[in-house]
Amino acid sequence: MGVANNRSIASGIAESFVNHGAEIGISYHPNLESRAVGIADQLNASFAYPCDADNEGEIAGFFNKVGNHWDNVDFLVHSIAFADKTYMNGKYSDVTKDAFAQAMNISCYSFTAAARECAPLMKNGGSMITLSYYGAVKYIPNYNVMGVAKSALEASVMYLANDFGVDNIRVNCISAGPVRTLASSAIKDFPELLTWHKTHSPIKANTTLEEVGGTATYLVSELSHGVTGEIIYVDSGYHTIGVRSPENDIK
Ligand code: NAD
Repeated sequence: MGVANNRSIASGIAESFVNHGAEIGISYHPNLESRAVGIADQLNASFAYPCDADNEGEIAGFFNKVGNHWDNVDFLVHSIAFADKTYMNGKYSDVTKDAFAQAMNISCYSFTAAARECAPLMKNGGSMITLSYYGAVKYIPNYNVMGVAKSALEASVMYLANDFGVDNIRVNCISAGPVRTLASSAIKDFPELLTWHKTHSPIKANTTLEEVGGTATYLVSELSHGVTGEIIYVDSGYHTIGVRSPENDIK
């Protein structure tokens, strides 16, 4: 869920899954049909359907269609987030009640709703993944209401893992380092964040779609059996840094 274009993290994950032999289906925002359907064709997806994650009925309707295609589902990837750009700039406290609720609904609640609808289709157990960012646990300038929504999303991973563990369904989260995408372009000063990350992370590199796709593939495979409720960082190790090393500064 969440393919917008070929830079989307969801596209990178889907490509990695297909390269490892998976059969996939895709959901996309109703306004983004042409690109998403093109990517679905490229990846030989079994289906591609619109689904507005702000609409509970559409989420239920989407999984109903999934159930018509497949008797059984092995994995779910939720790669959806939205916050009004106006509030991803300046002070967090300027956010309005409506903008707060919209960010929480689309970026957090939609994963809970999707998990609830998808779980009955995972008849042999399964693996669910959502995407977060470091702004869930530390202050990142301009990330604002999205950071609060990501904190709630990360907490929901723990609760969902406990709800569905008894059905052998695992629920995990990948906290990815910054990647240039449609969603991240809404964050003020994002290019500076990319440079800072590359300069000061242990691996001295920005995160790639292939890296996120690789960890997602591990999380939906049997290799990660026993791993649930986890937040896994795919960020060149950036989250381990306390203070920058001055010798890393760009001269
Ligand atoms: P993206 O813009 O390619 O993907 C975001 C997706 O959310 C898009 O497909 C968009 O259509 C979808 N979306 C937004 N509102 C929706 C709605 N109402 N209904 C249905 N779909 C909706 O950007 P991305 O960076 O690939 O984002 C994917 C996920 O990864 C998001 O959860 C994002 O927060 C997370 N993430 C991104 C970065 C980054 O730096 N790009 C880092 C860490 C985590």
